[in-house]
Amino acid sequence: MKQKPIIVIGAGMCGVSTAIWLQRFGHRVILIDKGQPGMGASFGNAGLLAQWAVDPVTSPKLWWKAPKYLTQRNSPFFMKWGHLPSMLPWLVKYMSHANDNDTRQIVRGVIPIVSDAVEQHKSLVRGTTLEKWIVDSKFSFVYPSEAAFKQDGYSWKMKALAGLIPKVILGAAGARGRANTGTCDGVSCRIGRAGPCD
Ligand SMILES: Cc1cc2nc3c(=O)[nH]c(=O)nc-3n(C[C@H](O)[C@H](O)[C@H](O)COP(=O)(O)OP(=O)(O)OC[C@H]3O[C@@H](n4cnc5c(N)ncnc54)[C@H](O)[C@@H]3O)c2cc1C
Repeated sequence: MKQKPIIVIGAGMCGVSTAIWLQRFGHRVILIDKGQPGMGASFGNAGLLAQWAVDPVTSPKLWWKAPKYLTQRNSPFFMKWGHLPSMLPWLVKYMSHANDNDTRQIVRGVIPIVSDAVEQHKSLVRGTTLEKWIVDSKFSFVYPSEAAFKQDGYSWKMKALAGLIPKVILGAAGARGRANTGTCDGVSCRIGRAGPCD
């Protein structure tokens, strides 16, 4: 009997990756999109294969960040107050996860998904002209002050669960070399899996 094709709906990063692997496993695949391939969230993103992004937004630190976020128009969590009644049930549930136990559970779940992101992308483009675009590199976090770095300690505790231990460079020179931080006593942290930090 002729094998039936597998239909993948959505030709973004997830759909395309799924389709490629299904083909590699010998399946016939039909990839469908309501628009053009790669024009959803996968279009024009920052292009970072974020292996370090293991700590979720819903962590205990959200409790003291949320009030600021909710009132700042450019924040990732800005809310128009008119929407509060309809948003409230979701918000309560969302914030109920902003505790240490749930955060650790999320981190444990995310680590196996993101830890090999670079290798996964390399294997997707192997043998194509896109190979040159996937490179391993270190990633720098730059803080305006040591106090700001210490305030972010919980994130680093969570990243440590994934084996991501930063090399910390104190002082404005180190920070300025990595980002335009103006005149500040910066802290710069480098993490990566591409070998020892330079
Ligand atoms: C500005 C921005 C920057 C980002 N930067 C990064 C980054 O640096 N690193 C990182 O890891 N992630 C980043 N992300 C997140 C990342 O881009 C997304 O998580 C990822 O692209 C999601 O891929 P996807 O395939 O799930 O969704 P999409 O790329 O949105 O693909 C979904 C596809 O499904 C199609 N579709 C939807 N409904 C239907 C339907 N009913 N029938 C047919 N087709 C349908 C859409 O047209 C679309 O093409 C960024 C996102 C944004 C918006």
